Order: sequence, then C-alpha cells, then structure tokens
Amino acid sequence: MTLRARLALSLVIIAAVLLVPLFVARTSMRRLHEDIRGLREREFQASLVLGRLRDAMGDVRAREVALSVVRSDTVQAQLIASLVRARLLADSLNHFVLYSAARRITSDLAVIGPAADSEFAAVRAGAVGRADTLSEGRIAPALRDADNALSSMEHELRVQTEQRVTAAEASLSNAEVVLLAALAIALVLVAAISLWLTRSINGPVRALRQGMQAVAEGELDHKLRLNASRADEFGQLAASFREMTRQLRELDKLKAEFVSIASHELKTPINVILGYIALIEEGIYGPVPEKQAPVIKTIEAQANTLARLAAQLLDVSRFEAGGGRIEPRPVRFSSMLDDLERTFHVLAVQRDIQFTVVRKGGLPEEVLWDPERINEVTGNLLSNAFKFTKAGGKVELVAEPAENGVCIRVSDTGAGIPPEQLKHVFEKFYQADNQKSASSKGTGLGLAIAKEIVEAHQGRITCTSELGKGTTFTLLLPLRVLNRRRTGGFRLLAPADAPAPK
Ligand code: ATP
Ligand code: MG
Repeated sequence: MTLRARLALSLVIIAAVLLVPLFVARTSMRRLHEDIRGLREREFQASLVLGRLRDAMGDVRAREVALSVVRSDTVQAQLIASLVRARLLADSLNHFVLYSAARRITSDLAVIGPAADSEFAAVRAGAVGRADTLSEGRIAPALRDADNALSSMEHELRVQTEQRVTAAEASLSNAEVVLLAALAIALVLVAAISLWLTRSINGPVRALRQGMQAVAEGELDHKLRLNASRADEFGQLAASFREMTRQLRELDKLKAEFVSIASHELKTPINVILGYIALIEEGIYGPVPEKQAPVIKTIEAQANTLARLAAQLLDVSRFEAGGGRIEPRPVRFSSMLDDLERTFHVLAVQRDIQFTVVRKGGLPEEVLWDPERINEVTGNLLSNAFKFTKAGGKVELVAEPAENGVCIRVSDTGAGIPPEQLKHVFEKFYQADNQKSASSKGTGLGLAIAKEIVEAHQGRITCTSELGKGTTFTLLLPLRVLNRRRTGGFRLLAPADAPAPK
C-alpha cells in the first residue's frame, strides 16, 4: 500500500471511529429531549383533563343536590349535560393510559344517569322518601366512588410520571456509559492507528537517514535496511538510494583510476627532472654559476614536492582501487624508534622545538610489521606535529606496551584542531581551519594514508586535540600482523609470504 493510501485510509478510519461516539451522543440527546418534552406535555394535558373532570363532577354533584330540591326540567337538563361532559372527559383519560380509573368513573357516571332520572321522577311524584333513598343509596356512593377514582387516577398519574422520569434518567446514564465506551474504543483505535502509522513511517525514515549519513561520511557500500521491493514510496526511495550509491561507487572508482594513472604518469617526468637537477648540481654539465644555484635549489624543492604529491596520490588511489600492499617482516622496534629520533632531531633543532622520544618499559624486541609503511605513518604524524608547532614548543613520541601490541603516541603543543573538525582529519584532502599556523603547505592526504596503513596492520589510529593547546595522535598496533586479510585498499601478506628478515 502506498504511503499516500495509508495516510488517507488512516484518516478515514480515525474520522469514522470518532464519528461513532458523536452519533451515539447525538441520538441519545435527541431521545432524551423528546422524552422530556413528552413528559412535560403529558403532565400538563393530564392535569388539565383531571381538573376539568373534577369540575364536571362538582357540577354533577351540585345539579343532583339542586334536583332534589327544585323540580325543574332545566336542572335535569343541566345535570345530564354535566354527566355527558364528565363522561367525555373520563373517556379522554384513556389517552393517558389510565384505563381502569377511566372505566371506573364511566361506570359510576352510568349509574348516576338513570338514578338521577328515577330521583327526578320520584320528586315529581312527591315521593320524597324514595327520592332521598335514591340520592343517598345510589347517586351519592357513585359520586364518592368517582371521586375516589379521580384521586387514585391523580396518584397513578404521579406514579407514572415518576416512572418515566426514572426511565429517562436510566436511559441518560446508559447513553453516558455507551458514549464513554465508544469514546474509549475510539481513542484506543486512534492510538493503535497512529502507532501503526508512525512505525511504518519512522522505520524507513530512520533507515534512509542512516543511509544518507553513511553516504555523507563516505561509506558508499552502506547496506540500506529498507527493502527496495516494497510497494510504497519508501520502496522507490530505497531503489533510488541503491542506484545513487552504485553510481557514486562507480564514479569513485573512475576517479581513483584516473588519479592512479595520472600520478603514475607524472612520476616518470618528475624523476627525469630530479635526475637532471642532480646531474647539474654535480657539475656534469659544467660548473653551476653562483646566480643559478639558488634557482636550481628551488626547482629541486618544487620537483620534490611534486614527486611526494604524485607518490601520495598514487598511494591513495591504489588503496581506493584495492591495490595497495603491505609486506610485514620482522623488525627491531628499538631501531625503528632510533631512526625516527635521528631523522626528526635535525628538524627539531632547526625549528627550535623540544623533541623527545620516550621508551616505556616492557616494549617488544621485535615486531612483525611493514616497517616502511609504519615509518610513513609515524613520519607523517611527526611531520604534522612539527608543522603545527611554533618555535619553543614541544613534540613528544611515547612508545609503550599495550595489550597484545604497542601503543605509540605523538603529541605536540601546537595549534590544535577545532573540535567539530576532528572527526574529518582522516578523510582524503581534508584540512582543518588551522592552516595559518602551519609552517608548510600540505595536501590533506597524510592522515588518510596513515589510517589505511594502520588498519591494514589491524591497528587503530585516533586523535584528540585542544584548540590552541596541542594535539595527540594515538596508534595501537598488534605485535604481529598475522592473518591474510584485506582492509581498506591494502592487501596484507601473511608472514609466510613476507621476505625473510635481513
Ligand atoms: P599532507 O600530510 O598531505 O602533506 P596535511 O598535513 O595537511 O597534508 P594530513 O596530514 O592528512 O594533511 O592532516 C590533515 C589535517 O589535519 C591538517 O591539514 C591539519 O589541519 C590537521 N592536523 C593534522 N595533524 C595535526 C597536528 N598535529 N596539529 C594540528 N592540526 C593537525
Ligand atoms: Mg600531514
């Protein structure tokens, strides 16, 4: 599924999930409103009907009393009208589901009608005793019963209203529970979807970021932890990343090959120039005029710089193309140190820098290294130390035993390296922003080559520095370089392959 589709789907699910509690809440609220409105209307209507019914019953009672005293057709007609009105009102009580009470009143009224007729006839006939008997024996109990029914009806209505209010309250708390449950489920779902979405984006983004960082740091064969066959945009990005690193690797190789060929081709003419300069200086072509001697010296110095540059370029390009070799052979460690001390002593005197070589106890007699290459490394480190240290400063080389190996530390009291640039000093052509303090120009290749050589010896080189105070390079080398293996571009020859010590 593409990232876009995943995002859209998640948004739709989140919206739907949030709509459910919203819908539940809205429905419950509406139902509750309807219930309340119904209750209010019902209560009002029922009270109205009951009030009228009570009025009508009062009328019936009054007319009946009047009838026993006044012999008038009008009073009888009024009594009948009141009875009809009361009956109609009693019927309308059915509407409020008060069936039994309504039935009771209706039957009471049904008794009163004919009894009132008989009473009227008795009054007319002058049978007062019979009329009284009818009034007290039939009409009065029916009226009392109707009154009682009315009261019980009012009571029933109150009970019904209370029941409805309780039911409405129950449905409100039910709706609350449903709403809370729906909200909780919605939140859990939203959290799960967000987690899924974040994970499915975070992982690939992290892998891509690591990949980009690795490429930026020059690790062109970095294995991206992202499947290029994924069906989403990350798959496309992974494929593009692979293609990009492939092309970069190819370019790098082409560049290394070009530099290798160019520097190799440079070596011959430079050597010819140096050869001729040596012949001129020796006077083979006649005596050198005094005026020309310094010019020839300058040409020689520049040609030597060119020769060194060509050699360094060749070295770098060789290990980049995988062709650099180291040839370990047994060497006396102390004589390596002596040679270094002798070589740099002259420079130290010239530059007025205090130079010391410290040999700690327990150093090995003999080591199995490529001495020329290790000399190149220590020479490079000492050259840098002298280059960045002012007159009056100190340069020190300390050699001490380390676990299964030797530790060589070259420290100076020179310019130091800005902390944020420290991690780049082993990169090819990298020069820190301290070149103003350098006594000579360089190309930024010395440390890159040193690192390759040290790693080819299965060793480690690290650097610490404090700006304005000095720098220390630490080399950790095993006593014997044993196994055949490739590191960087250098091929390590096993001791068996190495030439015998002289
Ligand atoms: P090259 O060695 O190729 O002639 P370089 O000395 O400039 O040129 P590296 O030896 O690779 O190149 O060093 C890289 C950079 O590291 C230097 O340019 C310098 O900025 C910094 N550096 C190395 N050693 C020291 C040191 N001892 N003190 C201060 N800066 C150093
Ligand atoms: Mg250098």
